[in-house]
Amino acid sequence: MQQANPSSDKAPRRLDALIIGAGFGGMYALHRVRGMGLDVHLIEAGDDVGGTWYWNRYPGARCDVMSIDYSYSFSDEIQQEWTWSEQFAAQPEILSYARFVADKLDLKRDISFETRATSVHYDEDAALWRIETDRGDLFEANYCLMATGPLSVPKQVDIPGADRFKGDLYLSGKWPHHDVDLKGKRVAVIGTGSSGIQIVPVVAEQAEHLYVYQRTPSFTLPMRNRKLDEDYVAHIKAHYPGLRAVARHSLTGGVRPITSRPVFSVTPAECEKLLEDAWQHSGLAFLGLFSDLLTNRDANEVVAEFVRGKIAETVNDPDTARRLTPRGYPIFARRPCLDTGYYEAYNRDNVTLKDCLEHPILEITETGIRTAEGEVEVDIIIAAIGYDALTGAMLSIDIEGRDGRRLKDKWADGGRSHLGLMIEGFPNLFVIAGPNGPSALANFILLNEQNVDWVCDCIEHMRAGGLRSIEANADAEDRWMDKVTTLGSHSLYPTANTWYTGANVPGKPRTFPVYIGGFGRYREICADAAAEGYRGFTLR
Ligand code: NAP
Repeated sequence: MQQANPSSDKAPRRLDALIIGAGFGGMYALHRVRGMGLDVHLIEAGDDVGGTWYWNRYPGARCDVMSIDYSYSFSDEIQQEWTWSEQFAAQPEILSYARFVADKLDLKRDISFETRATSVHYDEDAALWRIETDRGDLFEANYCLMATGPLSVPKQVDIPGADRFKGDLYLSGKWPHHDVDLKGKRVAVIGTGSSGIQIVPVVAEQAEHLYVYQRTPSFTLPMRNRKLDEDYVAHIKAHYPGLRAVARHSLTGGVRPITSRPVFSVTPAECEKLLEDAWQHSGLAFLGLFSDLLTNRDANEVVAEFVRGKIAETVNDPDTARRLTPRGYPIFARRPCLDTGYYEAYNRDNVTLKDCLEHPILEITETGIRTAEGEVEVDIIIAAIGYDALTGAMLSIDIEGRDGRRLKDKWADGGRSHLGLMIEGFPNLFVIAGPNGPSALANFILLNEQNVDWVCDCIEHMRAGGLRSIEANADAEDRWMDKVTTLGSHSLYPTANTWYTGANVPGKPRTFPVYIGGFGRYREICADAAAEGYRGFTLR
């Protein structure tokens, strides 16, 4: 892989801006900041671009946002040149797309790969960020852009005995770059979130036997993926500007139907028909079916019950169907999954569901997994156990702001920020798709673009006005946090144990750091703050 490493004599390399992370946010940031004529460099831990799509190469990995939404909108040339092959693209195609964009924009000449930021400290007198890496590089930059991603720190396997397993143990979020042959192997999958649900049907077809260790059952809906034909692609390409405009002003940053129809405004028969149509069409349609799914528990229960019925219809063994059936939390309060053949996989003779609510995993042994039911011997364990999300990546770096303030202390009770973009006490440190923005609920690529555009406009504003620094005000940050928390508390989201709330990581403070007012509204709020001379920020 081409390297663009800075000098090796450890003299600091002076930059206008340093970007951390070469996922879709960092890649676009590099393009934009470079386009402003600034001296900019990017450091990335992996050996290629792509971020989450570089690391997550597990069997079945696929995006459950439609390709025509989950792609850059900033360049019509890229939109016209790139052709998606499927409605929901698989990981290899998305990674190829990231590489295509990197080549097209000649990004790699300004990227140091296999380089991880270890410390990021602010020197207030010089108004500079000093960044050290695990390769011993030193950078000094006026602006530091954290494009480190909301889902980039996989949870480590915290089950006793994991280190003595003699077979192969893989994390879905750190999948190896060599081929993993599952044919004829006894495989265990731990975890049934979005990742596990994609892994199960694919591994079931290859493994001699697959054991699925499920703790909390997820609701999953049929993806109904399809190849995109030429006419459809031509139509999309002809209408991209309009489609993107709709997406930018939508709730989640995607082109999909929305409605103001509450569940109980239709008769039970009409409701059933709408749900059945959505089930047959694509699970994605469920999200635009009713307006009160995440505010009215009774309404939510109607839809949950419909999906429970589908599980009972699909899974042949009633006991397995019962164990796969989610109860005790609202549908969609955990991220909805879209699958291809997930429930059907349990009708195969070579797939066994292990219910960890009844029999928790006690330990991993040298040869397998032990619960109170006994030991199951396996050759391979796939841990699809999720992420230290939203705050994990930034907290894994030693970040110190003004007056020696440490991010670890500032975020001890949960991630705080103003607009998900900046943190009081940390001037000129910009977060891309950070906590308290709409991150978990928005189309990440469009959110990345909007965040980067806001940051670049801000930097241009500062340079034009001869300003050295910008920092979020404490009172503005407090008000934003109140707004995020209050909006969240009026929804059903905080009622489920998910990575949205931090409940998936033992000891992590439980908050709900996601702005749920909608992507379109969020854009307006950010734009208004800028238009009013960066209201809520102090410029020096
Ligand atoms: P996740 O949703 O957090 O699911 C992790 C699963 O592992 C849960 O079922 C969890 O059970 C289980 N688990 C964790 N620790 C365990 C333990 N010690 N023993 C047994 N089970 C354990 O993580 P994910 O599936 O990686 O998905 C995370 C997010 O990544 C998704 O919500 C989505 O935003 C994104 N993603 C997207 C796609 C896509 O676009 N299709 C695909 C994959 C991921 P509990 O719930 O009981 O803790």
